[in-house]
Amino acid sequence: MPRRRSLRKVVAPPAFKGFKPYGISSESTDSVDLLYEEYEAIKLADYDLMNHQEASKLMGVSRPTFARIYESARRKIAMALVQTKEIKAVYGNAWLDENWFICAHCNARFSFPANTTEHKCPICKSQEIDPLKK
Ligand SMILES: [Zn+2]
Repeated sequence: MPRRRSLRKVVAPPAFKGFKPYGISSESTDSVDLLYEEYEAIKLADYDLMNHQEASKLMGVSRPTFARIYESARRKIAMALVQTKEIKAVYGNAWLDENWFICAHCNARFSFPANTTEHKCPICKSQEIDPLKK
């Protein structure tokens, strides 16, 4: 029986859809998929400077699982830098803390405060927004 992969808690999805290298002679078409949970692992460990114990608790995974996600994230980013690949943010096995939305117009990702009644993109004010899902 296939084991169901446990979901990893991500506090906020990446605010970008991807990164693209520039200043290279040929147009890169290759890309690496950076999962939301990999982005979160990099953010917690290298941006928020949490230790792996704290970070794994926050994401609701074991320490070895966190280490694996983190290692995978670093390898993907290193590969993108060295091989001038694009980085794409991909949903992966994440579950999000709040209900997040994506703007169909400008691709912004955002959540609404609990007391909001207006459902508009906070960036471009478009009403074409969709729940952020896989
Ligand atoms: Zn927008």
